[in-house]
Amino acid sequence: MTYQTPSCSYCPGTIRACRQGEGELRGPAFCPSKVDPGGIAKAWESSSEPFNMRVARAAAQVEAEGYCRWTRVEEVCQFAKKMGFRKVGIAMCISFVDLGHVLSAILESHGLEVASVACKHGGVPKERIGLKDEDKVNPGNFEAMCNPVSQAELLNRAGCELNVILGLCVGHDSLFARHSAGLVTTLVAKDRVLAHNPVGALQLADSYFSRVWGPHKPAKLPFKPAEGRKRT
Ligand code: SF4
Ligand code: SF4
Repeated sequence: MTYQTPSCSYCPGTIRACRQGEGELRGPAFCPSKVDPGGIAKAWESSSEPFNMRVARAAAQVEAEGYCRWTRVEEVCQFAKKMGFRKVGIAMCISFVDLGHVLSAILESHGLEVASVACKHGGVPKERIGLKDEDKVNPGNFEAMCNPVSQAELLNRAGCELNVILGLCVGHDSLFARHSAGLVTTLVAKDRVLAHNPVGALQLADSYFSRVWGPHKPAKLPFKPAEGRKRT
């Protein structure tokens, strides 16, 4: 079987050969080392740019120094400091302002300057993006749209070199990341059902959260790359 799409998510736990630098040798047929070695080589042109190298080194140092000891909050602080950043932005959901308050004070306690913007700032009505009354969470009421492009613009103008996402919704976080000039990292991924712990739906996909599956659920483990991913 010849594959044309990288499919690491189907790599058996007994292989994962890239950890030993042996993907080309021992990786499965859908291993990126086999289906797109040219892509890996091309990416190195960007990876090796000086700023990207600095980011990669700082991230790896934070990983190693705080391994299984630092919380993600601590990792954000240490990463910002290792990068020599002066100013950090917080892009938060309006429901996270109280937690943003704590995060701001923690970042400032490490000598960082902080700017923060809530998603509803500007108070732009949802009608402005073409939504109808029935598309609102509570029809019949004024609802301000989430304004992630403006969050990014304001944090860009404030000179933030690293922006931390705090509870933005799916898609709103995408727009924010797309328009942020500074690096973006996520501290909290919004999940209203799982107390912002979205991995729970994957861990319990075959029991309490079996509703996550679409109509083409594969029959049994281990799952295999889908038909569309192979070339015969
Ligand atoms: S890179 Fe190759 S060896 Fe590593 S997880 Fe992906 S498929 Fe497996
Ligand atoms: S749109 Fe999303 S990020 Fe904005 S207030 Fe609503 S839940 Fe929060």
